Amino acid sequence: MDQHAPRARRLPDPDVSVDTLPGVGPKVAQRLARLGLRTVRDVSDHLPRAFLDWSEAGGFDQVLAGTEATVRCTIERIGVRPTRRRNLKLVQASVRDDNGSRVTAVWFNQQWLVDQLPPGTRVLLHGRLEGGFGPPTFRVERHERDTEDAGLHTLGLVPVYPASEDVSTAKLREVTEAALRIARHWPDALPAGVRDAEGLPLRTDALLLAHRPERVEDAERARERLAFEELLVLLVGLVRRRRGAEEGARAHTLDAEDGALVAALRASLPFELTPEQEGAIDAIRADLAGEAPMQRLLQGDVGSGKTVVALYALLRAVEAGHQGALMAPTETLAEQHFLTVEPLAREVGVAAVLLTSSLGARALGEARDRVGSGEAQLVVGTHALIQEAVAFRSLAVAVVDEQHRFGVEQRRAITGPAGGRAPHVLHMTATPIPRTLAQVVYGDLAVTEIARPPRNRRPVVTRWVTHERSAEAYRRLRRHLEEGRQAYVVCPLVSESEAVEARAASEEAERLRHAELSGFRIGCLHGQLPAAERRETMDAFKRRELDVLVATTVIEVGVDVPNATIMIVQEADRFGLAQLHQLRGRVGRGAEQSYCLLVSRPRDELTENAQRRLQALVDTSDGFRLAEVDLELRGEGELLGTRQSGLPELRFARLTRDRRLVERARAWAERLAPDDESPLTAAADRLFADADHRGLA
Ligand code: ADP
Ligand code: MG
Repeated sequence: MDQHAPRARRLPDPDVSVDTLPGVGPKVAQRLARLGLRTVRDVSDHLPRAFLDWSEAGGFDQVLAGTEATVRCTIERIGVRPTRRRNLKLVQASVRDDNGSRVTAVWFNQQWLVDQLPPGTRVLLHGRLEGGFGPPTFRVERHERDTEDAGLHTLGLVPVYPASEDVSTAKLREVTEAALRIARHWPDALPAGVRDAEGLPLRTDALLLAHRPERVEDAERARERLAFEELLVLLVGLVRRRRGAEEGARAHTLDAEDGALVAALRASLPFELTPEQEGAIDAIRADLAGEAPMQRLLQGDVGSGKTVVALYALLRAVEAGHQGALMAPTETLAEQHFLTVEPLAREVGVAAVLLTSSLGARALGEARDRVGSGEAQLVVGTHALIQEAVAFRSLAVAVVDEQHRFGVEQRRAITGPAGGRAPHVLHMTATPIPRTLAQVVYGDLAVTEIARPPRNRRPVVTRWVTHERSAEAYRRLRRHLEEGRQAYVVCPLVSESEAVEARAASEEAERLRHAELSGFRIGCLHGQLPAAERRETMDAFKRRELDVLVATTVIEVGVDVPNATIMIVQEADRFGLAQLHQLRGRVGRGAEQSYCLLVSRPRDELTENAQRRLQALVDTSDGFRLAEVDLELRGEGELLGTRQSGLPELRFARLTRDRRLVERARAWAERLAPDDESPLTAAADRLFADADHRGLA
């Protein structure tokens, strides 16, 4: 060997295939792949789901009926016992502990154990002793052969892995063992300075502890260490991405002081802005004064008053001689926004146009010309249209409403045309999530919250009734109408198609006209109506020429009629939690007490999940709290937007549990992101390169 030319030390690659591990051939590799374990890193990151302590194993006489216990014993007889149920095979064994106590042990559907555990085998059983009539039986949940060389499987705390039918937890233990031996040589992405300051162990030590702890608490702390690094890498990547975008792009810098239009807007409002709204405005004002394009997320529950804040930002653009655009995810919402914005704009002398594809070619062409010439100062439209088909003369501020409905890709596309100035962008969402989570999900955006609605607001009273009492619900609704108030009836969610849903809504409107709501003026709103008709209906409802709006979920967002004080949601159990909360936000927009009546099938026909959703809505009207419940019910993976936001999958972090970790990681990320040389930023850049590569981010 040539000592003067040492081979360049190759960094061990965590992403090599599992079949490089001893004991893993093609067949096992295939089975592991079905568990999502393809690389050695996948295996080392697959943490145990529980731990068993065989050292506590004793005899049957110490076991109380009904409790879980671990027992050391010997198999005396074993066999499959037929049962009456065809898909149930019972393995039954007579076992004897070291004190000579005999018990019948049973396993369900594991016939092969008869061969694996012949009479005479020493075993450790973990399970539950079931009393009742006759001799007690021990229902086995886990077992291990108690052999001399079984150390890995029986000594100390034994990890139990999320296993599958064809990969046993024992096999996973062996494979993990092998992976951990390699993982020792992997680099630590966490800089030593951070590790010291946070008092954290080395990554390899944490991995080992997470898999092979001496105490269960150690495993949880090790998981947190791994989660912290994971979050840090992710957040550094997000911060770098944001700064990268800021670097290239230049926006119009607007005055640090509000001008005449904003003053006129304030004067024309029939209310004072809340401190929360003022706070959001302050943050936006500061952003607009900078040359870096604003990328701010405004979170606020339905009805919290985001529209005025949006209008503020738009008018700032107009004041400075530029244009502002307000984009909505649907035509209905765009039209609705236009109805709100246009009169206010007119009052302060600003020309606004509506841009939606249903305008018709002529009108659309004209609108586009006005946008191109700059004559239209304020543009309201659907996102797609504004983004694709329009050349603004000078777009300085863009507001994206209900931004969670757009993917990251779309969100980024608004960053503006190549060359020229990029617009400042304000993203708004009415599906608030806790701030710490928002930092992860929307890590590349600055976040502002409107955490409280205007004070004159009273929480909507929500009731949950079943079908048989829906007559009562309609009686109550009629009472509101008789007092001059207005109402919504939301039709059941039909999954087949929008056309079917639209038809169902029209039929329901027709039915109600002749039944529960006869004598009242009823309009129907759904996504299949021609735009003009939809606008007319909305307008008529706003002008109080209609008493009731029977609608599909097209009214979910944006519709703003403070005189509407009651809503009935039919078959409410079919809707998601967030969706129901959004729908409910259509009432309770004025000073009057409002009501939301959720009608469902009888309780015992509902899934537990559906019951908890409806109950949560009855219990609270706090959107942040509901977002948490939603998260619990749907699981982390479904966390609103995480998937479509294109974030890499989190292996260790549990967003609901790890808030503090997120905060700490966030603080470090801001400090560490600029360092182009550190392994941390390299890891972060790699992470996003991978995500981009997969077409996600
Ligand atoms: P969202 O955040 O859901 O978009 P909106 O902006 O539509 O909420 O506001 C809901 C209602 O509250 C509107 O009727 C609006 O005029 C009213 N509103 C907004 N700000 C205030 C305020 N500061 N005081 C009283 N009412 C307000
Ligand atoms: Mg809104």
